[in-house]
Order: sequence, then C-alpha cells, then structure tokens
Amino acid sequence: MKQIVLKHALDHKPTAADFDVIELEAPACGEAQILVRIVHLSLDPYVGSRIRGRHMGEVPPEPGAGVIPGAAVAQVVESKIQGVSVGDWVHTMDAGWREYAALDAGAFRIIDPNAAPLAAHAGVLGMPGLTAWSGITQLAKVGDGDVVLVDAAAGTVGGTVGQIARLKGASKVIGIAGGPDKCAMVVNEYGFDACVDYKQDNWTAILDTEAPDGVSVHFENVGVSILNQITPRLKLYGRAILCGLAEQYHSDGPPPGLNAGMIVGKRAAIMGLIVYDFYPRWDEYVAEAGPWVTSGSLKFVEDRMDGLETAPALFEKLMNGQNMGKCVVGVASEQI
Ligand code: NDP
Repeated sequence: MKQIVLKHALDHKPTAADFDVIELEAPACGEAQILVRIVHLSLDPYVGSRIRGRHMGEVPPEPGAGVIPGAAVAQVVESKIQGVSVGDWVHTMDAGWREYAALDAGAFRIIDPNAAPLAAHAGVLGMPGLTAWSGITQLAKVGDGDVVLVDAAAGTVGGTVGQIARLKGASKVIGIAGGPDKCAMVVNEYGFDACVDYKQDNWTAILDTEAPDGVSVHFENVGVSILNQITPRLKLYGRAILCGLAEQYHSDGPPPGLNAGMIVGKRAAIMGLIVYDFYPRWDEYVAEAGPWVTSGSLKFVEDRMDGLETAPALFEKLMNGQNMGKCVVGVASEQI
C-alpha cells in the first residue's frame, strides 16, 4: 500500500515538499481488530501542529516511517471483531495518511451508508461538524433570536456553526472569512445572512452595519486578533466560544496578551461577573454565609484605621496594593 510520511522532523509550517510517498506491506488484521481500506481521508488544521509536536503534548510521527494522523471514512475488508462484517462502513480518527489501516475495537464507529452521503462523515458529520454542533448546542446554547457570528466561516467548522445556529433559531447568522470568493460561498452555499471579508481595511465598520446592536454569540476559529475586535461588539451576556487559533498554530511563539491556547486546552469557561446582577440575592447570601462567619469557618481580615481623617491615607495604601485585607475606617464606635 501507499503511505505518506514526513521526510524530516519539522520546525516550520508544513509544505508539500516536507512529505514523501512510500510503498509498504498493508498491515495485517490482528486479533480483535478490523482491517479497513481508507476511502475519504480528512485533512484538518490540527494535524499541522500535531506533526510538529505542537499539539496536546503528542509525539510527532517518526520521519520516513511514522503514520501522519488523520480521520477517515473507511470500509471493512477483513474483520476479527464480532458484529463487524466485511463491507461495513466506519468512521475512524485513527486512519492516517495511508491506504489501509488495522483498527482496534473502540477506534472506529460503524456508520450507515444510507443515512447520509458517506463523504459527509469526513467533514460536516465528522469531527469538524461535531465541533460546530457542540459549541452551538452544548456550550453557547444558541436559541431563538440569537445573532451569531463565526470566523473562518467558509471552513467546515465555521460553515456548520452558522447553519446549525440558524436551524436552532438564530435570527441572524454572520460569517467572517478571508476574501470575496470565500464570502460569496458562505452566503450562497451555506445560506448565511451576510459574510464580512476581514482582509478589507474597513471590515469592522461593515460588520457594524450587519450587526448594529452587536452579536449575542461569537464562535472563534482564528485567534485573538479577531476576538479582540469582536468582544467590544458582544451584547451584554454574550457568549463567545473559543474553538480554534488558526493564526497562531505555526507562529514562532504565542502572541502577547491572553494565552488563548491555554483556555482552549483546559476547556475553560471565562465569564464576566458584575455583582450588581446578584444584588437581589444579597439576603440569601448573608443567610448562608453569616453562620460561617460566626462559627469561624469563613474568616475575614481587616486593614483598619480609626478616625474619618485616616481615610485618605488608608485609601492611598489600597491604591498602591499595600493593604492586607479589607480596608475599613472606624468612623465611630458601635456603642452609642
Ligand atoms: P478551515 O477549513 O476553516 O481552515 C482554517 C481557516 O482558518 C482557513 O481557511 C482560514 O480561513 C483561517 N485562517 C486564518 N488565519 C490563518 C492562518 N494564519 N493560517 C491558516 N489558516 C488561517 O478549518 P476547520 O473548519 O477544520 O477548523 C476551523 C478551526 O476550528 C481551526 O482553527 C481548527 O483548528 C479548529 N478546531 C478546533 C477543534 C476543537 O476541538 N477546539 C476541533 C476542530 C477544529 P479565512 O481565510 O477565512 O480566515
């Protein structure tokens, strides 16, 4: 069979010249395995980072021999797993850039070739589609009336994000993409309401005309340079999904400021908090925490000065970060 391998270890954004085609024996179907012929191989942005050793700590494939990772739609040609038959179709994340693969149970899902076009499982029903669905329905929980914005909108994740958002009730779906051809595709093929070409100088002004009241959901696929333009345009209680950082996968180092890669890796939710929203629940808080304070299980420390005239000095201490605990001025005695 044929297999694509790296010519050498990579320290740069991969180019076609970094790969070789080799011929080797197809793998044997081991016990409790299936052997598949790979039919639709998915190429994904993460693979560029993965083969440089820059993805989730995984070891890059060995030059000349290692399998380049890739998901695929494949057909079973031999089976040593009960319930899986020759001719069955599977989706696997463990295919690799090669013609045949031997897969353990658990490394594939059987798919129904009649339920949807097989090739769809490489993209819109595959990992990128699942990414879009997860962000829109499970994290952002898009519903009626949401104004949804997504970048890299011409790609599978972005294009699926907008379409699922529409199916879930979004009132307006706007894409951001690089260039007029991509934008035309986003509108004409995916059916977005609008698409803004961010390679134009005045793209944020155009975005403002498309979303004059801001956006309630933003789905970020490109990185902090776009995100920083969108956060001021989020409506109150807007939700932003940080999904991809395509612009920095091959940069020399992380960009200054927010370490967005860490937020993605940790699946962290960063939420804005304004205490005003909780004022109506103040009594509830005191009812719960008052006994903790009284019993000593919730401690408090004061940086206290007595006499109203001490307020400016204590405040200066606070401004300079020299306070130790809660700055309180004792203005009068508790006893009358
Ligand atoms: P796409 O087909 O959308 O390809 C990536 C796109 O990113 C490009 O076409 C380009 O679109 C844009 N881009 C912007 N800047 C750069 C740059 N410097 N280099 C390369 N591309 C750039 O990919 P997918 O639909 O497969 O994935 C979209 C994003 O989602 C990716 O960032 C991917 O890594 C991420 N992802 C994250 C997952 C997760 O679990 N968090 C899972 C799956 C994907 P344009 O010209 O329009 O800007």
